[in-house]
Amino acid sequence: MKRIFCLMLVIAAVSLFGGYSSVGGDGDPPHTAAAQIKFPAVVGESFFEHEPEHFVVANENFSNLQLAEIDKPVYDKYEVLEREAKGLSLNLPEIEPYRAEKVAYLTFDDGPDDKVTPTILDILKAEGVHATFFVLGSMVEQNPNVLKRIFNEGHAIGNHSYNHVYSELYRSPWDFADQFIKTDEIIKETIGVRPLIIRAPGGTAGVFNNDYWAMVDSCGYAEYDWNASTEDATASVPNASRQVDNIIKQLKDYQPNTLIILMHSKAGKEETAKALPVLIDLLRNKGYKFGVVTPMTPQPW
Ligand SMILES: [Zn+2]
Repeated sequence: MKRIFCLMLVIAAVSLFGGYSSVGGDGDPPHTAAAQIKFPAVVGESFFEHEPEHFVVANENFSNLQLAEIDKPVYDKYEVLEREAKGLSLNLPEIEPYRAEKVAYLTFDDGPDDKVTPTILDILKAEGVHATFFVLGSMVEQNPNVLKRIFNEGHAIGNHSYNHVYSELYRSPWDFADQFIKTDEIIKETIGVRPLIIRAPGGTAGVFNNDYWAMVDSCGYAEYDWNASTEDATASVPNASRQVDNIIKQLKDYQPNTLIILMHSKAGKEETAKALPVLIDLLRNKGYKFGVVTPMTPQPW
C-alpha cells in the first residue's frame, strides 16, 4: 500500500517539473491520526520522552534546521509518505549553509556491516569525532544493531538506497525514489527516525538529469556527493598509507572550507579503517574541525 502511495506521490511531483503525466489521487488515509502521533517512537529498544540532546528532529515545516552545531545530526520523525498523507511540508526551506570555518565531513558509504563498521566506530569514539554513514537498506536489515550503535553514538545516518544496483536505481526517477523511501522505512523501524540526507550511489554526476533532481526535491531530501576521496573503492584497492596519500594529494593545492570525504564501511575496506586515525590527525593538523552532514552542510562543489 505504501509503495502505491509512493508512486502516486512521485509521479505527481515529477509532473510538476518534468512533464510526466500525473495520475488522479485516491486512497489517502484519514488524517485524524496526525495529532495522536507521540514523539518519538522506539529508539534503540527504549522509549524517550523528551527532545534528545545528541540529534535534532525536524519539526513539521522544517523550520528548525538552521543549527548552531556542526556535529549534530538531523532526522525526521515522519517518512516521506507520512508527510504527504498528513499534508505536512515536503519542501526543505532555504537554509544558510555553514561556511564559517574549515570543516571535514568524514562519510562512509555502503554499510553497515558487522566488522569494518564497528572498527570504524571504535576509532571515531577514541578520537572523539562524529562522522556520517550513508547506509543501504539491505545492509540495515542484516545489521540493525550496528545501525543503532551508529545512531546512539551521535553519528549522522544518511540514506544510500536499498540495494545499490545501478541498473535498477537509474531505470527511472520513480525506481530511484522507491528504493530511498523503502530504506527510510527500514531505518525508521530500526531507530525510530529517518534521514533527510541522501547520497545517490556512484554520485549524481552522469546519472542525474533534471527529473532525478526534481524527484529528490519533491521528496524533501538533501543530496550530498563529495569533493575528496581516499579512493578506497578503486580497482587498485589502495592500502592505508596510499589512501592517506590520496587525501594529501587532493589537499595539496586547495583546502576547501567544506571537505566531504568519501570512504566505505563494509567488508573488504579494512585498510580504510586502518587509514582513519592517520587521516583524522592529518586533517586536525590542517586546521579542520569535524562535522556531520545535515541539510545545513554546504554542497561540496
Ligand atoms: Zn555506494
